[in-house]
Amino acid sequence: MTTVTKEPDDSGEGAFLSVRDLHVSFTTEDGVVRAVSGLSFDLERGRTLGIVGESGSGKSVTNLTILGLHNPMFTTIDGEIVLDGQELITARESELEKLRGNKVAMIFQDPLTALSPYYTVGRQIAEPFMKHTGASKKAAWQRAVEMLGKVGIPNPKERAKEYPHQFSGGMRQRAMIAMALVCDPDLLIADEPTTALDVTVQAQILDLLKDLQQEFGSAIIFITHDLGVIADVADDIMVMYAGGAVERGTVHDVLRSPQHPYTWGLLNSMPRLDSDLGAALTPIPGTPPSLLNPPSGCRFHPRCAFQGEVGGARCVDELPLLPPGRGGACHLTAEQKQTIFVEQIKPRLR
Ligand code: SF4
Repeated sequence: MTTVTKEPDDSGEGAFLSVRDLHVSFTTEDGVVRAVSGLSFDLERGRTLGIVGESGSGKSVTNLTILGLHNPMFTTIDGEIVLDGQELITARESELEKLRGNKVAMIFQDPLTALSPYYTVGRQIAEPFMKHTGASKKAAWQRAVEMLGKVGIPNPKERAKEYPHQFSGGMRQRAMIAMALVCDPDLLIADEPTTALDVTVQAQILDLLKDLQQEFGSAIIFITHDLGVIADVADDIMVMYAGGAVERGTVHDVLRSPQHPYTWGLLNSMPRLDSDLGAALTPIPGTPPSLLNPPSGCRFHPRCAFQGEVGGARCVDELPLLPPGRGGACHLTAEQKQTIFVEQIKPRLR
C-alpha cells in the first residue's frame, strides 16, 4: 500500500481521529497527578502514529482515555477526542462499549492480561465477533479460525480449540492480534505489543501488523519506548515527555532532523548494531519527573544539558509550546537546534 507522507498539522479537520487540548488528571491520596496536559494530535486512516516516551510520559494514559478505559471516580478529563465524527469524552458508556472491539481495538503488551485462561483461544476470538456482528456461533468460530490463519498460526483449525497456556509467548501475541482485528477495527491501538518478545518474534509481529494494516486499512497508534521499532512501523512520530508532546513529525523528519533535546537523548540512548559488544549506552541523565509536582517551565529542564544556550531562566520559568506542524517544544532557536544537532549529537549517532 502506498502511504501519503503528510506533515501533521493542528487543524484537526477531516482527521479520522482528532485529539484536541486533552488534559487527564487523577486524584490520589498524595494529590492530583496531571498525567496528560494539553495534548493535540490527528491520525488518518491507513497511517501509523508511533508514540514514544519513557514510562510516565502519558502515552498509555492517552490511549486508555481514547478507549474510555478510566475510572470516572478518580479521573478528570478535559478537551476533545473525535473519532470518525463522534465525540468520545462525552459519550455514554454504552456507546463506548459498542466502539470497543468493533471500531477501536487494543493490543496489550502482555497477552495473558487480555486472554482468559479458562476459555479456548478460538472462543475468545469468536465471542467479540458474535457480539458486534450478530453472527451465528458457527460462523463466528469459522471467522476465529480464519483470523488465526491470517496471523500466521499453523494448523489454525486445531489450535483454535486450545487454551492460551498451550500457546508460546509469540503465538499468544498473534492470538491477541487476531482477537483485536476480528471485527476489522478502524483504529488499532498497540501498547508496547512486542516488548516482551525476543527479537526474531518481534520482527515477525511487526511485519504482521504492517501486512494486516495493508489488508484492513486501519489507523494504528503504536506505543513504545523504542525509536528503533517506531522507525520500522510508523509513518509519523509523536514524542511525549511528562504528559505532553515535545516533538512530532514524519518518521523521516524526526529521525533525520530531531528538534528537541529529549528526542536527541532518546536517539543517543539507543543500542546500535555497529557498536562494540558491551559498549556502554548513553542514557538520558536523571529520571522522569513526578506528575504530582511537575517542574516549572520546560518540564525537561532538570535533565537538559542545553539550558545555557537559551540563556537566563527562560527554561525554568516559561513552558515552551509545540508549534503547529513540524517542530519541537523548546526555547532553542531553529539555528541553535541545527548547530547543536549537527555538531554535537549527529556525530555520536553514526
Ligand atoms: Fe532544554 Fe530549555 Fe529546550 Fe527545555 S526549553 S528542552 S530545558 S533547552
